Amino acid sequence: LVSKLPDVGTSIFSVMSQLAAEYGAINLAQGFPDYDPPQVLSGALARHATTPGHQQYAPMPGLPRLREQISRKTALLYGVPAPDPDTEITVTSGATEALYAVLAAVVRPGDEVLVLEPAYDLYGPAIRLQGGVPVYVPLCPPGFRPDWDLVAAALTPRTRLVLLNSPHNPSGAVLTAADLRTLGQLLEHSATLVLSDEVYEHMVFDGQSHRSALQEPLLAERSFVLSSFGKTYHATGWKVGYCLAPPLLTAEVRRVHQFVTFAVSTPTQHALADVLPDAELYTSLPGFYQRKRDLFADLLRDSRFELLPAQGAYFQLARYAQISRQDDVTFAQWLTREVGVAVVPVSAFYHDRQDHGLVRFCFAKRDETLRAAAARLRNL
Ligand code: PMP
Ligand code: GLN
Repeated sequence: LVSKLPDVGTSIFSVMSQLAAEYGAINLAQGFPDYDPPQVLSGALARHATTPGHQQYAPMPGLPRLREQISRKTALLYGVPAPDPDTEITVTSGATEALYAVLAAVVRPGDEVLVLEPAYDLYGPAIRLQGGVPVYVPLCPPGFRPDWDLVAAALTPRTRLVLLNSPHNPSGAVLTAADLRTLGQLLEHSATLVLSDEVYEHMVFDGQSHRSALQEPLLAERSFVLSSFGKTYHATGWKVGYCLAPPLLTAEVRRVHQFVTFAVSTPTQHALADVLPDAELYTSLPGFYQRKRDLFADLLRDSRFELLPAQGAYFQLARYAQISRQDDVTFAQWLTREVGVAVVPVSAFYHDRQDHGLVRFCFAKRDETLRAAAARLRNL
């Protein structure tokens, strides 16, 4: 068999979690909480898992009652017209499937897809599987803010899609209303679409708030907006997310979705629909995660790691130049094996594995986990 992705190895998240398990290291690498979903949500799932009539296929686009709740929540949170559950909302098997379905639906061989880099590891390979050409535009440390002149210069008549991710994995950078307005204006007279990966929408710190592509009219009309219940409800293993898009775009996503997974787990969707009206469960997240970010930063204050600004998501980037001159992959492996703390080397977020001497810590961990990790990291 001739591989379609010969240069692609196993995802860094699997690699580092496996190494962490092998060496008994504290896993601050792969992004997932070491605490459980709210009891009210787990309880709802337990109930629906044994409710007669909730055990067969859900409707292909998602349970109507879950789509209705997503619609209400979106309108309430972002002050935008409520997306139509019938024509503008598709429930997917995590944001991962939504990303894949959108890319498969819109990218044709030779189409260019603009990706701001560093970028989540699936974007490039998933674009290339459709015959698309990723065009990378750099985000520069320490702020990782987009340079819209560079974006403008990278746009061509072949640009089918621009991929956004805010709050940003791995840097935590967040896009502002002005950023979205600028991009909207750049794309105004083009046929270029936007895929806005907003899975960390509820994790924005220091009094800022998340701006959704839905809130910029020039973008909303051409955007697929993705979110993930895995992030919002500490339930990454449940693998439920969704895609919001105008009706013509949603129709294309569903053409693919129906042949990738067909539908998402029925009892899980019922449980999520039960808890979605409780806004406290997500409006408490900025405070919850800002506290963890600050605790971790305090714990590392006297260490030789230099922490970069972290405005959103649940990741902290750190420079380790005062500790080691190793490349970031070697350093991350050493840290996992010898120090007992697993991290992700940031070069994994670059298609050409650029090494900026940075590693990524996930701080979505219990305070005692962060303390135990910091105790190992402080004396390096
Ligand atoms: N996009 C980004 C930026 C992510 O960090 C993740 C989580 N790994 C995903 C998409 C995938 O989300 P899900 O777990 O819902 O598939
Ligand atoms: N989004 C998570 C991260 O960035 C990992 C998801 C995965 O393991 N595929 O760490």
